[in-house]
Amino acid sequence: MALPYTHYYKLSFSALNLKKSGSLHSHPICCVQCNSDVSSSPFTEKHSLKRYQRDHWVYNSNNQELLSLNSDDRAASCSVPSDSDSIRLNDIALQLPELRKLLEVLKHKRENCGGHVPKNGPGNVFLVGTGPGDPDLLTLKAVKVIKKADLLLYDRLVSNAVLDLVGPDARLLYVGKTAGYHSRTQEEIHELLLSFAEAGANVVRLKGGDPLVFGRGGEEMDFLQQQGIQVKVIPGITAASGISAELGIPLTHRGVATSVRFLTGHSRKGGTDPLFVAENAADPDSTLVVYMGLSTLPSLAQKLIHHGLPQDTPAAAVERGTTPQQRTVFAELEDLADKIKTAELVSPTLIIIGKVVALSPFWPQSSIEASCLVEA
Ligand code: SAH
Repeated sequence: MALPYTHYYKLSFSALNLKKSGSLHSHPICCVQCNSDVSSSPFTEKHSLKRYQRDHWVYNSNNQELLSLNSDDRAASCSVPSDSDSIRLNDIALQLPELRKLLEVLKHKRENCGGHVPKNGPGNVFLVGTGPGDPDLLTLKAVKVIKKADLLLYDRLVSNAVLDLVGPDARLLYVGKTAGYHSRTQEEIHELLLSFAEAGANVVRLKGGDPLVFGRGGEEMDFLQQQGIQVKVIPGITAASGISAELGIPLTHRGVATSVRFLTGHSRKGGTDPLFVAENAADPDSTLVVYMGLSTLPSLAQKLIHHGLPQDTPAAAVERGTTPQQRTVFAELEDLADKIKTAELVSPTLIIIGKVVALSPFWPQSSIEASCLVEA
């Protein structure tokens, strides 16, 4: 790995100094920046060269090289597709060039089996959470499964450092939805997972954070189970846990926050309104963690304040959390959207709102205020 994943915070920001000075009127913002090259992204960005290098097998015209499954799986790969399946698969193949190539390879392998079709069942699909970016946050189970995979389907929030753990013989396929061309719809991803699993491959679907937290992992699991494919889920550290730990923010804290709520900031029709009603989220005793909330934050903050959340509620926005490129903005709720704009934070950014944010050692307000919160 080229970059260290232990974060060396440049104390160019004045959070700790402000705490010591006890200034209650200091401007509550700071940018925490890690000691690393911020120009390179820890994730797979649009048209990333690394991505095309990883997925080169898809574009390689030599079909023999497309899917060299390990020896244990070769027999299994000869067992599909059945004739009725092949009609459906060919339909998909018309849309998906990599599937068409895969089917050719499978046909070739079947022919090499002399028409004998072993009764092996389909392969396994593992839905694996890869955490927010730092590969050290992977579970041991995830690492084991990643190393054994034949095929891995991944999207943008699986960090490059995690992908570096994939074995040399495994095939990687990018299915991120923000990748410019070659991006996949959710239905296409379902079909890809199914087809590869039916081909007897050990398929791993990698998802950033936890696969069942705002990751559409539930939909993929549901679809595959309905098709008779067994899905094993391996949990990951969700962005809320990984990032709050990084900043020293306890998501719940006795006397400060009695509950925590994970929200999506996504708007239903791509507008500026978040999906949920802020009315029932405006609870000063609850911590709010907003995923995908950058574009709708101005509207969310307004609504929360309108429904009774104090405008000086401490808040933080963290871009590329747990990676060497992590950047953090601290501000009171009413100022957060402006401060994020000034700092030009981009996706992925996680927003944490609640009194617990002031318990972070990096919160630039006075320690007196923070200790008052603990005692409240
Ligand atoms: N399944 C993921 C969430 C996917 S939704 C999980 O459990 O974490 C995508 C959103 O998650 C992003 O828009 C962002 O709000 C948040 N997120 C994921 N990884 C992040 C990271 N490393 N830094 C900041 N936010 C992150």
